[in-house]
Amino acid sequence: MPSCPAPSPASSRTLRTPQELLEAGLVDAASLPEIAKVEERYATAIPPAFRSLIENPDDPIGRQVIPSPEELITASHELADPIGDDALSPVPGIVHRYADRALLKPLLICPLYCRFCFRREHVGPDGGLLDEAALERAFSWLRAHPAIREVILTGGDPLMLSARRLDHIMHELAAIPHVTTLRIHTRVPVAAPEKITDELVAAMDSEKAVWLVVHANHEREFSPEARASLKKIQRCGIPVLGQSVLLRGVNDSAPALEGLFRAMVENQVKPYYLHQLDAAPGTARFHVPIEEGQALLASLRGRVTGLAWPTYVLDIPGGYGKVPLGPDYLDQPRATVTDPNGQRHAIQSPDGTIAAPS
Ligand SMILES: *Cc1c(COP(=O)(O)O)cnc(C)c1O
Ligand code: SF4
Repeated sequence: MPSCPAPSPASSRTLRTPQELLEAGLVDAASLPEIAKVEERYATAIPPAFRSLIENPDDPIGRQVIPSPEELITASHELADPIGDDALSPVPGIVHRYADRALLKPLLICPLYCRFCFRREHVGPDGGLLDEAALERAFSWLRAHPAIREVILTGGDPLMLSARRLDHIMHELAAIPHVTTLRIHTRVPVAAPEKITDELVAAMDSEKAVWLVVHANHEREFSPEARASLKKIQRCGIPVLGQSVLLRGVNDSAPALEGLFRAMVENQVKPYYLHQLDAAPGTARFHVPIEEGQALLASLRGRVTGLAWPTYVLDIPGGYGKVPLGPDYLDQPRATVTDPNGQRHAIQSPDGTIAAPS
């Protein structure tokens, strides 16, 4: 990393304040007053492991975590609660949109704060830790809803909990008879891999089915330390899936997406979702139009292993849920299909007729 500043004592701790960002060479002095304003509204944290991946502030790693004055501008279509979670919360910490599953958000702390986060109005270092009583109310709600088969731990980042607290939550959830599946959504293995200790991995283990979904947006996030932390989790028998957000300047090219999904597959991480960016306030600089996202994915079809293929999804603004965005290979009228090379083929319909390619 020739352009990386020499490590300073500050590089051993998480960067949080505008002054620390300035001293680390990640923002310039001229933008400091505006960065300070951003800081009043949205938390910043750049942990040492993630910091070491930044070669320059506008690279695919830096863009994800370094605050920008552009965050002070809210576009007319941007919403504080872009996917309508707040209205779907029956008790604090629970979000219930789908019949068979619910989110449990035990805290709102993250190892780093993504500048494009859809929950950016809520997450932060002093936010939202459910106390014992609130956790008990969330467990009671889950116990009283037998249709819930899967509980998705999210936040914030559930792997920012202490091993003891995570262990307690996993035990309480596993003890609910109708809950068969526990899912953990996290950024810790790539953002702060040193936090994946043996104790924390032991706390993730359960007699119920456990799945882990790691959020990563660029192949460089799969550092040797991140790879080792994922391996620890996998050795415990927990399958790991990947979720990413399509982001301008981070992964908005075919080679970047290919590199990201290949890095996942090579680490036994199955790409699960590629999210269309949710329109949270001050995130316009990351926006990639849906048509462009579809074309990018189409360009990977046939070129990379099918294991590397995520579902491209949109969380419909207002709380209507996630839907796949294609790309769609079925032609109109729906009698032929176009292959990755652009060639059309007839498909057989249920009544036995075969449509001829036009
Ligand atoms: C995204 C989400 C889920 C999980 O959806 P899957 O498609 O099962 O990954 C569950 N509940 C809410 C409220 C969500 O936003
Ligand atoms: S880790 Fe997830 S919840 Fe936390 S800031 Fe990033 S996108 Fe938001």
